[in-house]
Amino acid sequence: MPTLSERDHAVLWHPYTQMQTAPLPIAIVKGEGSWLIGEDGTRYLDAISSWWVNLHGHAHPAIAERVSEQLRTLEHVLFAGFTHPTAVELAEQLLALLPANQARVFYSDNGSTAVEVALKMVLQYFHNLGQPERRTFICFQNSYHGDTFGAMAVSARGAFTEPFWPLLFDVEFLDVPVPGREAETLAQLDALLLRPDVAGFIFEPLVLGTAGMVMYEPGVLSELLRRCHAAGVLCIADEVMTGFGRTGPLFASELLSEQPDMMCFSKGLTGGTLAMGLTTCAAPIYEAFLSDDKMRALFHGHSYTANPVACAAALASLELTRADACTQQRQRIEAAHAAFGQEIAGQPGVRAVRHRGTILAVEYDPGEGTSYFSRLRDAFYQLALDHHVVLRPLGNVVYLLPPYCTTDDELALLYAVLRKMRAL
Ligand code: PLP
Repeated sequence: MPTLSERDHAVLWHPYTQMQTAPLPIAIVKGEGSWLIGEDGTRYLDAISSWWVNLHGHAHPAIAERVSEQLRTLEHVLFAGFTHPTAVELAEQLLALLPANQARVFYSDNGSTAVEVALKMVLQYFHNLGQPERRTFICFQNSYHGDTFGAMAVSARGAFTEPFWPLLFDVEFLDVPVPGREAETLAQLDALLLRPDVAGFIFEPLVLGTAGMVMYEPGVLSELLRRCHAAGVLCIADEVMTGFGRTGPLFASELLSEQPDMMCFSKGLTGGTLAMGLTTCAAPIYEAFLSDDKMRALFHGHSYTANPVACAAALASLELTRADACTQQRQRIEAAHAAFGQEIAGQPGVRAVRHRGTILAVEYDPGEGTSYFSRLRDAFYQLALDHHVVLRPLGNVVYLLPPYCTTDDELALLYAVLRKMRAL
């Protein structure tokens, strides 16, 4: 009898995977708290919340309950001309929690589509205002905003997107204003803002995830936003990774003194249960689409827009995230990361340590070949698996981004694996 992994290999095509050389995928049949349980009973500690989506642990009973109740009540309804209770309730709750200028919620299916919607809102906003010449986006070097074409265009021109470069629209890149480099980035922005064609600035607030958990401070980001606003440029906070408590506060943008005009969410939105994305915007953006002319509407939507079951999962996850117990869990992980970061920083083999909220990144000395697919990266990945820990290093950067329910003992296991990586 073939195993599940062998059956998979015969029929499936996995993301970001060289199917000819990759080992057989590990078959997971159950999730429990921070653990994933394999077909053969092996337990793996999910140190990266299954691609940064899981907040409260796998198969959480409160979310499962809410989802199954919703499935039996209303599983789906088209969202043009119709609405339903969970979509309205979720939008009301989110708007009450988001920065005060956020006024409208537009649902979609994942992080990439949340970004696509934001980009289209910016372009059509200026189109509707009679300023179609404003169509250039500014973004950070090494940023990642998703895999659809618009999202790829505002992301780094790296190896992942090379075959598609000819079809990606041109954007302007800013250096990430990491500590000590703020003045350079501000000067780059000032030069770009002299141009009449700049429409929007999209950024991952405070932590660039895929770039290697590159971190920068709220003060300089607030200043970038202030300068954009002075030049009439709209600002999009891509909180797909940072949203729902990852960086400490509920949203990273809460730490800014200047509010973004638009925000994108996905990943933790449903606590890692169901695929959903959403984009929020400030009132003036929404109002630019209001008209007697039907052609000024936003012509974007997906069949599963505002799926009631996904909205129910998001409501259940939000309730868990807002509870004091979750705040305490996040603070405990943050303190543990800080203590471990202090221990490992400066040790042989460690080039840098970064942490914010429940995210910890250790940048190891790369040796030769620092690319995402380097030998070192594969060695880190395998060492973690040998210790029954699921990690996906970004080149020579190994990061932890665990579910909030991860215990002190589980964190200790993760830190022990990171210590061992110094020897590779
Ligand atoms: N934006 C950011 C900041 C991300 O980290 C990601 C995914 O990693 C995306 C957008 C794309 O989200 P999705 O994978 O759900 O399309």
